[in-house]
Order: sequence, then structure tokens, then C-alpha cells
Amino acid sequence: MMDIERIDIFDNSESPVIIAGPCSAESEEQVMSVASKLSENGIAIFRAGVWKPRTRPGCFEGIGKEALPWLQRVKREFLMSVAIEVATAEHVELALSAGIDMIWVGARTTANPFAVQEIADALRGADIPVLVKNPVNPDIELWIGAFERLYNSGIRKLGAIHRGFSSYGEKFFRNSPQWQLPIELRRRLPLLPVICDPSHIAGKRELIMMLSQQAMDLNFDGLMIETHCNPVCALSDARQQVTPDELKVILSKLVRRSPDMLSSDFSSYRKQIDSIDEEIIRLLSKRMEIAREIGEVKREKGLTVFQPFRYNEAMERCAKGGADGKLDADALKAIFESIHSESIRQQLSIINKNIK
Ligand code: PEP
Ligand code: MN
Repeated sequence: MMDIERIDIFDNSESPVIIAGPCSAESEEQVMSVASKLSENGIAIFRAGVWKPRTRPGCFEGIGKEALPWLQRVKREFLMSVAIEVATAEHVELALSAGIDMIWVGARTTANPFAVQEIADALRGADIPVLVKNPVNPDIELWIGAFERLYNSGIRKLGAIHRGFSSYGEKFFRNSPQWQLPIELRRRLPLLPVICDPSHIAGKRELIMMLSQQAMDLNFDGLMIETHCNPVCALSDARQQVTPDELKVILSKLVRRSPDMLSSDFSSYRKQIDSIDEEIIRLLSKRMEIAREIGEVKREKGLTVFQPFRYNEAMERCAKGGADGKLDADALKAIFESIHSESIRQQLSIINKNIK
């Protein structure tokens, strides 16, 4: 079990931690103008990408270390904390010697254990908060592995950033949220603060409000939102950045619900759900009892356990069951696939019970 230390910015659980700033630091003037607006609006943590991991070569790959003095100016003149992405040992060393307050590991880097280990080794002995974005692929072990590598290097102030997962083909989101992964991360590492990056999930600014509210409803600890004074002219991620004024509107509309209040308000609903769950379990055990009886018949008659036509019938029923829109057909299919495979497992144990 990792003994994660709470990063102080997460101490005030009343309001979400907001990290805002441009996708990339583009020029001193751009950095100073967005930071000035954000600090006027009460934002305390400024983000900017200095080295940009781009999918294809030839895109703007970041200004590099020349941008670090601009971030030092942001710290000095607006008293903001500054956060940047690091992807190599050299980035870590430059960030530490520039007095950067917080660093994050990007999604492409988290997916590569060699790169994460290199960063962890370079951080040994440093006392800087490190946020780790989820890997681009939905692999929770890889995400947790990155925390373990950093932890083993002595880094205790850790946090996670959920930025969605990439997938092939046309899509509504740039990176699909797959909320079950950050929820599972929370369950596995309860001390770890988790913030959401709706900008990289959305890929377009119109979806940022909706995703930010969903993150609040799921009790995330904060948000990282890409902000630029002139988003359409941004050198990277132009479609998904908002202006500081738009950010202000988004934040003012966010409803923060209290998890404690929810639990008392929902107690009567929860009782209903508990009794439905008990009923489901009772029905499932009845279903398994019948499946075992069929198993006996299959054994006597020498039939195979798995009969594809029965499986297909069950799957067709799921597709129909999902047609009224209340149940998602794929979710229903996943549930019935596991019920069916449990029936098969039980029948196999009956058929094989005399085999020693
Ligand atoms: C970023 O934050 O600008 C960035 C590159 O994000 P990600 O690693 O999530 O793609
Ligand atoms: Mn970006």
C-alpha cells in the first residue's frame, strides 16, 4: 500500500482545485497575458506545455527550455504556482532548477514504463508534487505502475489526471472518458487526489462544461482546463481551448454536490436498490440451480455443455431488451455473457464430477 501524502492544494475539499493555462507556452507575451487574466479571475495554478509530444512530426513541438523564464515571471508577478509536463530526465532537471512548482507526466509517457522509470530516477530526492495522466490506452495497471515507480523513487505528493482514452475511428469525444477507470483508480488508491482534464477528453470547447460537471458529480478533486486568450490561433489544441472569460463562466455554473449530503438524501433510494440487488442474487441462484439440473441431463445424454444456438438466443434477447432505450444493449450483453459463462462453469463441474 502506498503511503501517499496529500498535496496541500487539495486540502480544501470545499472547492475543486483548478489548474488552467494554455496547451503550449507560445511566446512570453501570450503566457503573460493569459496568466494575468487567469490570476485576475482567482486561478492559483497556471499550466503550460513547454515540450509538446505531438502525434505527427512537423507540428509545433513546444518552445522548449526558453519558455521556463516566462513561467518564472508568472510565479513572480502573479504569485501563481506553475505546472508543466515532463517526459525525460532532462526535462525533470530543467523543471527542478527553474523552480517549477508542480509537474505532470503526459498520457503518452505514462504508457511507456521505460520513460516513467527515467523520470522517477531523475526525481529521486526531490520534493515536488507529481501528477500522472492516465495512459492513452485504458490500462489501469499501467497507470498504477507509474505511481509505484514514482513512489519507489521517494515521491510522496502524487495525484492523478484523467484525460480520457484514445480509440480508433470517428468519435464524439477526442478521448473517450471511460469514467469506470478513474473510479476504479480511486477505489484502489483512496488517498490519491484525482482531477479531470475535460479539454483533452472533449477535443472541442463546447463539451467542456458538460464534462466538468460530470467530473464534479463523480466527486473529482479538481479540473485542468486549457485556456488561451485567442484559442482559434493557438499553435496546439486550438479547438479545445477556452478563453479566461469562458473559463470563468464554466466555473461559475459548476454545481458542487456534497458526497455526505448525497448519502443521506439517497438513503431511501439506496434501500430500494439494495433490495433489488438481493432479488437479483436470489434469481441468479435460482437460474444456476436450473442450469445445474440441465447439466445433469447433458451428462446423462452425453451432450456438449456449450450449445452455441442457446448462447445466440440469449444474446438476441439482450439486443431486444436494450431496444426500449432504458438498458444499453452492449451493457446488457456484457452482463448476460458473464451469467452464461458462470452457468457453463457450473455445468462443466457437474459433467466432470466423476472424473478423477
Ligand atoms: C497536455 O496537457 O497538453 C497534453 C499533451 O496532454 P495529454 O498528455 O493528456 O495528451
Ligand atoms: Mn493540449
